[in-house]
Amino acid sequence: MVDKFAPGEATSFGNAGVLAECGCVPVNLPGFVSKVPQLMLDPQGPLSISAGYMHRIAPWGISFMLNSRRSKFEQVADAMSSLLSGATARHVALAAEHGASDWVCASPYYYLYRDETDFMADRTAWQAREQRGITYDILQGDGLAQAEPAIAEEYRYAVSLHGHGFSRNPEKLVKALAASFVEKGGELVQAEIRDVIVEDNQPVGLLTHKGVLPVSKLVVAAGVWSRQLAARFDRDIPLQSERGYHVEVHNPGISLQQPIMYAAGKLVATPVENGIRFAGLVEFAELDSLPDRNFCHRLLYHARRLFPTICLDDFTEWMGNRPSMPDSLPVISRSENFSDVFYAFGHQHMGLTLGPHTGELIADLVSGARPGVDLQPFSISRF
Ligand SMILES: Cc1cc2nc3c(=O)[nH]c(=O)nc-3n(C[C@H](O)[C@H](O)[C@H](O)COP(=O)(O)OP(=O)(O)OC[C@H]3O[C@@H](n4cnc5c(N)ncnc54)[C@H](O)[C@@H]3O)c2cc1C
Repeated sequence: MVDKFAPGEATSFGNAGVLAECGCVPVNLPGFVSKVPQLMLDPQGPLSISAGYMHRIAPWGISFMLNSRRSKFEQVADAMSSLLSGATARHVALAAEHGASDWVCASPYYYLYRDETDFMADRTAWQAREQRGITYDILQGDGLAQAEPAIAEEYRYAVSLHGHGFSRNPEKLVKALAASFVEKGGELVQAEIRDVIVEDNQPVGLLTHKGVLPVSKLVVAAGVWSRQLAARFDRDIPLQSERGYHVEVHNPGISLQQPIMYAAGKLVATPVENGIRFAGLVEFAELDSLPDRNFCHRLLYHARRLFPTICLDDFTEWMGNRPSMPDSLPVISRSENFSDVFYAFGHQHMGLTLGPHTGELIADLVSGARPGVDLQPFSISRF
């Protein structure tokens, strides 16, 4: 395994840590297009596009919008559901096998609304989840206040999803799995891959700043940076960074029992090892441009509104790159042109949740076993 950083130090470092089996529903629900202006104009809203990036994001954005039509939405939800089913059980079993059980647990996952009217405004998403076997209870009023006393009185309605889970430290989870990989005989090389050497239409070496590393079969799983590596073998694919942010509040003075999605703000509050992590929002900007701290201020604004007694004196900030495809589906596939090259990237908002299943599916592809799900929707050839 070759990575320019140590394990779990890129996007997997700072995500919200939720094992979100309910994530079969893409962001661009039918009707999403009409909501975009409102999302972007709200100064505390979840979406921004930097001015100089508008023209660059346009082709991806148009394709993303077109994928919100009803028929496409149903196909995406079915395909995602086939990957997401059993995600928490997979994580818990994998962690148990590899000494990482401290860093994942099963738990409910709450979606928080002000009231039933706000919940009903999301009914397309909830119907789609129900049709795909996602189950939940509704918590209201005192029931919700007893379960999570720190939530502001203004929010009186929550969906409590069954069969979900979370990680109290996604970085430590990835590091524990990587340590077990090494203990069992795997090799980790910390090096930047600058090119892939190809002979007779197959990859034979990775050109790194530490020299050439021989390779016979290659799996490209480099998050948003996979685009450049994949272009070496196949046509350019529309992989885009959806930048997201977190603020991790230490000594918050309140506690949470489970992760809570604030549906209107598109952000999650997760109880983590060192406090509460508020993570989410979407920014489209140049991949290597500096983080915009305004997004962290938005997260803090929502933290205060959701939990009025929270202490926000001590916090850290972070930005990461969700690797996102315009059809909201990852690429889990053999290369179109090179039989010994495979792809596992583009997991957008669901990369933590889908890690173990993606690993199993790629292992099947590489070893010639029959994958347990239909991988056609995730093929690199779909573009
Ligand atoms: C704010 C936020 C909240 C999120 N919340 C959740 C959540 O609650 N649940 C969930 O399931 N998902 C969540 N996600 C999404 C999830 O974090 C990502 O989908 C996931 O981290 C992607 O993992 P990855 O391994 O594909 O990419 P990364 O974690 O970005 O890893 C890519 C790796 O490739 C390496 N690399 C790249 N190019 C090269 C090269 N040339 N040579 C060597 N190495 C290279 C990098 O060093 C890096 O380590 C969230 C994301 C964000 C931003």
